[in-house]
Amino acid sequence: MQHKVYWIEGDGIGADIWKAAMPVVNAAVKQAYHGTEEIIWQELLAGEKAFAQTGKHLPEETLNALKTAKVAIKGPLATPVGTGIRSLTVTMRQTFDLYACIRPVKWYKGIIASVRHPEKVNMTIFRENTEDVYAGIEFASNTDEARKLIDFLNQNFNKNINAECAIGIKPMTEKGCKRLVRRAIQYAVDNKLPNVTLVHKGNIMKFTEGAFQKWGYEVAKQEFGDATVTEKEVREGADPNGKIIIKDRIADAMFQEALLRPEEYSVIATTNLNGDYLSDALAAQVGGLGMAPGVNMSDNLAIFEATHGTAPTAANKDIANPCSLLLSAAMLLEHIGLEKAGKAIQNAIQNLIDKKTVTQDLAKEIENAESVSCSGFGKLLLAEIEAMEF
Ligand code: NAD
Repeated sequence: MQHKVYWIEGDGIGADIWKAAMPVVNAAVKQAYHGTEEIIWQELLAGEKAFAQTGKHLPEETLNALKTAKVAIKGPLATPVGTGIRSLTVTMRQTFDLYACIRPVKWYKGIIASVRHPEKVNMTIFRENTEDVYAGIEFASNTDEARKLIDFLNQNFNKNINAECAIGIKPMTEKGCKRLVRRAIQYAVDNKLPNVTLVHKGNIMKFTEGAFQKWGYEVAKQEFGDATVTEKEVREGADPNGKIIIKDRIADAMFQEALLRPEEYSVIATTNLNGDYLSDALAAQVGGLGMAPGVNMSDNLAIFEATHGTAPTAANKDIANPCSLLLSAAMLLEHIGLEKAGKAIQNAIQNLIDKKTVTQDLAKEIENAESVSCSGFGKLLLAEIEAMEF
């Protein structure tokens, strides 16, 4: 059977990591299914490569193809800070309503992590992807727009905002929050996981972040009433046996919990900005962004992605770590029903960590490790996979 997968190379280290990763993915599928399954790769242009060829960073052809696509996978795309084009990754999330950013974070044995017990970290973060401050309503300080908005707020709502402020708006809907929490709880149900934690900053932003918490509990009660119980109900004597415990944590407390008691959290459901911070912090806890996979999903389309950026200083030097892209590809393979191939990629990566032959960023995190190039690492993974029996 043939599986069409759209791929976007990405900027910076994108070309290097794809060169190493694509043969590994093909080999994993071939080896695991003895040639009966095959990925048909179709490239879509985005970012600097697209601009060089078409004059646009996100050409119509790419947008049109993604409209009807089911799965795609992308390398990192550059965004200038402060000025210039809007983040292409954010644009894609909003154009295709990819409302759930899902990032599993777990430790690979052998990596020296920044915490004493990285093996206790095994969490999947569901980050709302389309709303919150990422919806992008912001006005620079001392502009007409900012002054108009500040005047309006001061006059109509009896506020006292300094006229020189820059100002931003944080839009969040019940529908947007609920569909994210629904997906997170469903994931816990499907994977028989013990708890889902709603992470928010509702003590300060009561009607946005606080509403996320309220709506989250409503979804749990109204749609998963038989499968869930709240932490409060358990404290009051309810039997948690066989049920998913729904908890909530204020975002800053969650950062502490992730460091002190990570084993008490299996699925996190959170708002856009909190989720952005928390995913990177958790990835760093278990060995850095180079290892963290992820996917952005709507109800129809899943775009898997390397979760790190373009690492411009490492670009075209054949030194980058392709693991994030490869582990995202492993998630993609699972998503399209090729679990054995996905597992093969994960096992091959663990084997090379065990053998202590890794790219330079990981070599720094493994005692007495030998550092290999990005392409060299790809070749070693290929050899691992070709030696596997299915
Ligand atoms: P970055 O992830 O590119 O780099 C942070 C650090 O991690 C750097 O030291 C880098 O060398 C290292 N690093 C990251 N990935 C690595 C890998 N695979 N192998 C080895 N080392 C790796 O983050 P940044 O510097 O904040 O951002 C650079 C650019 O990437 C910006 O334009 C930013 O907008 C963009 N970005 C894109 C995405 C995305 O497309 N999803 C995500 C984050 C940042």
